[in-house]
Formats: sequence, C-alpha cells, structure tokens
Amino acid sequence: MRKFSAHYIFTGTGRILNKGIISLTDEGVISEIVDTNGELNEPAGVEFYSGIITPGFVNAHCHLELSHLRDKIPEHLGLPSFLKIVNEQRISDPLNVERDALNGDSELWRNGVVAVGDISNTNVTFPLKSKSKIVYHTFVEALGISSNRAERAFTLAANYYAEARKLGLPVSIVPHSPYAVSNELFNKISGFASENNSILSMHSQESPDEDIFYRFASGNIFQHFTENLKLDLSSFLPTGRSALESVIDWLPAANKLLLVHNIQTLQKDIDLIIQTRSPGQTWFVLCPRSNLFIENRLPDIDLFLKNNLKICLGTDGLSSNRNLSVLEEMKTIQTHFPGIPFSELVIWATRNGAEALSMNDWGGTIEIGKRPGINLITGMDLQHLRLQPQSKVKRLM
Ligand SMILES: [Zn+2]
Repeated sequence: MRKFSAHYIFTGTGRILNKGIISLTDEGVISEIVDTNGELNEPAGVEFYSGIITPGFVNAHCHLELSHLRDKIPEHLGLPSFLKIVNEQRISDPLNVERDALNGDSELWRNGVVAVGDISNTNVTFPLKSKSKIVYHTFVEALGISSNRAERAFTLAANYYAEARKLGLPVSIVPHSPYAVSNELFNKISGFASENNSILSMHSQESPDEDIFYRFASGNIFQHFTENLKLDLSSFLPTGRSALESVIDWLPAANKLLLVHNIQTLQKDIDLIIQTRSPGQTWFVLCPRSNLFIENRLPDIDLFLKNNLKICLGTDGLSSNRNLSVLEEMKTIQTHFPGIPFSELVIWATRNGAEALSMNDWGGTIEIGKRPGINLITGMDLQHLRLQPQSKVKRLM
C-alpha cells in the first residue's frame, strides 16, 4: 500500500483536490481518495510531492513502427511531400525498425503514458506491444486508392488483425485517410467495422490537399499518387465535395470514431458529424506538434471548445515529432491557446483518450477501483496552474 499527496490532484474527472491523499494497493489499484480541503497535517506514511498528480496519460494516436524515422524527415514539407519521404524511408532493416519501436515504447512509458492508440501498417510491433507494460489498441490501417487493389489490401489487413488477436491485442481495421482508400476498400472496412462494432480511427483534415483531391481529382496528393507512386487513378471520380463529406457514410455511425488531426475542420464539418453520427461516439484527436512539424499550422481548438467536442491528444509518430511526450503536446497547446485551462488539458490527456479506446474501465481517471497509473508533474506555476517550459512528468506508479 502506498499513499500519495501533492499540491493538487487532478483526477481527470474534473474533480481537483487541494493536497488530497490517494491510497493505492501494491498492484496500483486506487483504494481510497481523501479530500483534505488543503489541510494536510503530514499524516504518517503519506509521500508528499511538490507538483500536480494526474492519472497516467493516454496517447490516442501514435505510429510506433515509424520510430526509426526520428530526425530523418525535414520539417514544414507539407503533407504530400512528407508522405513521399515517409514512403521512401520507411523501408529499413526490420531489426532496426523493431529496436527503435522498442525504444519508442520505453520512451512513452518514461513519459507517463499508460495506453496508446497505435497505427500499424505491418505486424513488426505486435510482439513488443503484447509484452509491453503499456496497453495498446492497435489500429491496423488498410490503404490503397486503386480500386483493383482493394481485395489484396483488405486481406493483408485482415491477416494482421487475426495475428494481433492471437497475441491478445485489442485491434481494429481502419482506413488510413479519405484520400488513401478506394470506395471498394472503404466498403470492406465499413462492413467489417459494423460486424465487429470496432473502434475506428482515421487521419482526417490534415491538409488542404485532401479536399482538392476529392473535389477536383487534382492537387499535390493526386500528383504524389500518380507521379511518385505511379498509381492508375483513371477510375477515381471527383465527388465535388470535401474529403470528409465524401467518406462519412463509410464510417458506421454507431461505432466509436477517432478523427485525427482536424487542422482544416470548420463549423460545417462539425455540423456534418453531429448530424450524421450517433451522439458521443466521435473524438477529435489533436497532434499539435506533428501539425507544426508537417504543415506548420494548428487546428482551430477554440472552435472545438465552442462546440463542446470530445478532444484527445496524440503524439503521432517519430517521423513527424521530436519525441513521444503527451506533456509536450499539452505545453504546445497552452502556448498557442493560453485561454485553455490546465484542468481541461488534463481531461484531454487522460479520461477522453481512455474512453475513446474503451480503456476507461481501468484507466483515464483517479477513481476508486481503477488502476490508471499515477503521474507527477513538476516545475509548474502552481499559483496560476500553468505548465512552464521546464515542466516535467515523472511516473509515481
Ligand atoms: Zn498518424
């Protein structure tokens, strides 16, 4: 049994305790929460820390298998050129890929992450994910914009899905993005998701080129496919609508859905989601440092707040980020959107991700009976409850 206290405990539920005490069993299960109302008289056995205690972080979007691309790709290329270089560089000695993915897993753990929504295009990370102390939901990503490759692309994804299931990993088959999946492939993914009631995730509105692709069958993404990848897109018909509008019907309305990036998202897109999807089943995953890395832009987070949307945080992969730290994502948001309170950022970094990934039965909040992991954030401005550049996260349990 251990008892922790700190200047503040942010429980992730919205409840904040001033010098509260939480007791945990040796297995890390929370057995007691005491609200001292700020009057902590140093009771025996309580470990008091200077800083803020939060639940373990949930990283809702990562690509562990791209960890070997750290420091390999220049910043601010824009999405089409970024995709081109990832495509060229991602093929590497599988031993290197595995080693760097394992280092990525350790880095996440050190940075207080307890759960991850992780994109897989191959099976290379499955063994390490099945042994990790972190709980992963694996999103096996199917991709292929050429309609004649749909069968092959889906079979490949289904094989990876079966392999992940065998290892006991929570897993779904998901579309990469609107622009990288043909109608035929979307049909297969959609049918499978409905049958299995699986959690869906999709890169969405990450660059203005996605809409140009769908509206006009032209632009930089179209050019990347036809010129760099030599794909035959003669059968692709422009829809005259935005990318999200064009594919929304293939994302079963009742399934959980994580929309990742959202830097182009406007009120009309939010209205479309609200009109077409079941209430409470859509999460907006923000990966701000990846957005700055690739497009040098950020989503309109104030608009998401105005619409009371459910926001999660992700680091994306090391191909578009310097490190895998949810705390650094929180700092970036606070710098660019100083009006967002720290308490809100904690909910995005913990509870919302756990709910989106169906891990809220054990994680995401400090509540009795849960085993969410316990983080300590030090180096904060405790008077104004704001992160500072030197703020750090340390895992207490
Ligand atoms: Zn991604």
